[in-house]
Formats: sequence, structure tokens, C-alpha cells
Amino acid sequence: MAKSTGSKPTKKHASNAAAWQHASPASRSKRAYNRSLVCAALFHDGPHSRADLGHATGLPLSRLSDICGSLLNEGVIRESMITSAVGGGRGRPRSLLELDLRSLGVVCVRYDQDQITTALVDLAGTVHWKRHWSVGNEADASSRLRRIARRLKQTIAVAPDIGLSLVGVGAADPGTVDIATGRSIRAVNVPGWSDMPVVETLNEASGLAAVIERSDGWQALGEVAYGAGRGAQHVLFVTLLEGIGGGIVEGGKLLSGRDGSAGEIGHTRVSIDGPKCGCGGRGCLEAHLAPARLAALWRGARPDQLDSIALQSETTGDEFSQMLAASQRGDSRAQDILVNATRALAIALGNAISLLNPERVVLGGRFVEAGDPLVALLRKSLPEFALPELVSNVDVRLAELGEDSTFLGIAACVRSRLFAYPSMGGTVESGRPAAPLSKSNGR
Ligand SMILES: [Zn+2]
Repeated sequence: MAKSTGSKPTKKHASNAAAWQHASPASRSKRAYNRSLVCAALFHDGPHSRADLGHATGLPLSRLSDICGSLLNEGVIRESMITSAVGGGRGRPRSLLELDLRSLGVVCVRYDQDQITTALVDLAGTVHWKRHWSVGNEADASSRLRRIARRLKQTIAVAPDIGLSLVGVGAADPGTVDIATGRSIRAVNVPGWSDMPVVETLNEASGLAAVIERSDGWQALGEVAYGAGRGAQHVLFVTLLEGIGGGIVEGGKLLSGRDGSAGEIGHTRVSIDGPKCGCGGRGCLEAHLAPARLAALWRGARPDQLDSIALQSETTGDEFSQMLAASQRGDSRAQDILVNATRALAIALGNAISLLNPERVVLGGRFVEAGDPLVALLRKSLPEFALPELVSNVDVRLAELGEDSTFLGIAACVRSRLFAYPSMGGTVESGRPAAPLSKSNGR
């Protein structure tokens, strides 16, 4: 879990976020383009001297000095002096410019049926502040969305005390989302939450550019940028909470599919006449692995009772943990349940591995609680359900970031949008590279 580290940024930068509120036509100006070019070069290739930055961007020194002066003043970049080690450190000190990712932050909001959580995260990947809020008693979804916006505003008010200059907003939605329109399409567990204008509402509440994604998608991105998926280009992330979700990250970008639902592995079928799922189907991976169902099996529930279990119920959370502990103590019934559940997981992952050819599979949520024994069982089962040459090269790992992966995924998305190489006539948000100026490392 990310912790607050390093020096505290100065408060003078906290109110200088105006330059990043880039929905205005001004953001398409030549100056904004050049500013983006400088930031992208520093983000993708690290600290530069002014002279090197001039070569990398092709900007004349006078224009570059002007842009760097503004960025330094806003706290977006910082300057440090280094002395060459050559000659026993007696060389002439050189000035280097680098992005000050610790001073730039995003405000995040995650919401579901039971809770709203807001967080402030810097772009280097430190979660500085987090709070869980009650969802209240609002009967309708619009009131719920207004409450989310109020909590977002309250969180933004904290940013100056932390010294963060906010550059974006991210929403983690419990359902399916339409990235293009910024609307939440539907969340089956949140009554009335359908076709909600989340991005528009959060833009208005914050004055910052907002992005939305499925909560599981943000987690996948967070693990790839800062956790167990670091360094991998092709990652399949699967998480077990009350249900099962996931995300596919290719080259640092989350695959969305037509409706933003790519990676929803929970409703892939692993048996023909298997247990009933919350989606109405039978034999979904989620129906086989829902902690509520596994706990009921361990309690001794009969097969005909299993269909009536509310799969998304959290009430059996402790029982699920107890079942895992019993399995590790050698309880044969708990072990059998886990072996069968792992087999269902291996079928789904085997199919996904054959389809996607990932280099790494990251297991999050309650899979982490099941730990190394689960990974060992899975490695044993997987070769049965996918091409051996594909499975043998897949690295299966447990997630590292816990619930903060959601917020870190938002930070990763915002910083890659913010510091993408601009295209001539485009905006910072276009994410499309111009003619390559230098080698990019992808994130
Ligand atoms: Zn299903």
C-alpha cells in the first residue's frame, strides 16, 4: 500500500492548477503545444539540461526559457544542480530540469452501493489522503450523484494543506461505463444507477477534467503502473471481491472494448449447468467463486440451497477467511472447495490466456488473501486448460496495492494523458504522439 514519503511540496503551488484546466480553447494554442512538448520530453526521458531540452524539442532557447520559467513558477517542474563525478566532483555544477510529480495530484472518487471513498494522490504514486463517506439515504440516483459531487468538493478543499496542485479528477464506477460520453451505463448492485452523467457532474463540481472507468479497470492500470504488473506490457488482471472483475492492459493502456467492458472475466462461462449467477446465467466464473457461495458450501449448504444465496453478499466475509484458514490447517472439506474453485478459475484463465497471450496474470482482491497456496494450485491446473507453450511463459502473481490500486490507476491514467506527446493542432488529452522526438518508454 502506498504511503506518504519524501519532502512535502510547498503550498505556494497548490493554487496554480489553472494551466491544467485544459478544456478551454487556449489549450490548443501554440504555447500550450510547446508546453506539452517540454513536459512530455521530461516525462518520457527523465531530467534534461536546458540545452538538451532544446535539442529534444527543437525549441529556441528564448522560448524554452519562457516556458520553463512558467512551469517552475507553477511547481510543475523543479531544478536541481548536479556536479559531475569526473575530476573528483570538482567539475562545474550543471542545472537539470525534471517534472515534480510529487507536487501534482489527482482527486479520486470511488462509489458503490454502500460507500463513497475519496482520495488525493500525487502523480508519483503516493496516496496522501483518503476518506470513506456514508452514501446517505438518498432514494434516487441523481441525489446520490449530487452527494458524490459534494464529497469530491470537500476533498478538493483539503489539497492545499497537503501541497498538491490538482490536475485532474477520476471516478471509479461500480458498473459499466461509456468512456466516450463519460456516463455510467448501469451498475446492477446500485438501485437506479443507470445512464448517469458522472463526468459532466464531476467536471462542473471540480473545474478540472474528469475521467471515468470501471473500478476494476482502474485497479488493473494501478497494478501495472505501480504494483505487481510493473514492467510488463501484456497483463491480465483478475480480482475477487464479492464478485469477480478484471482488466486487460496492453502497452500501458487499458483495453476498453466497444462498451468499456473488456476484461469482465467474471461472467465468462466455465460450466454448462453450473451454479446460478447474479447476471441470470449459469456457470459463470463469478458464480463458482463468489466468497458467499464458497463459505456456504463450507458451512454444509446443500446444492439446492446454493441458488438462493445472494452471491454479492458481504455478510460471509469472515466465514470466507475462516474457510481459507481451515484449508491451510488441513481441513479436507475446505481444501476440496478450494481445489474445485481453483479449477474453475483455471478454466477461465486458461481460455483468457489462449485468447490474449498475456505475459503476466495479476490476481487481486480476496485472491491475495488466499495467497501463495492458490497460486501454486493454479499453476498446477492451468496447463490442462490452455496451450502449454502459452501457459509456461505466463507469470502469475498476487496484487501488491490493495484498495489503493484504484486510485493509483487513476493517477497513472491522468499522468499519461497529461504528459503524452502532443500532436500539432491537437490537445494534451489526445494521447497521440507527434513525429517521434525521442524514444518513449510507454508510460
Ligand atoms: Zn454471470
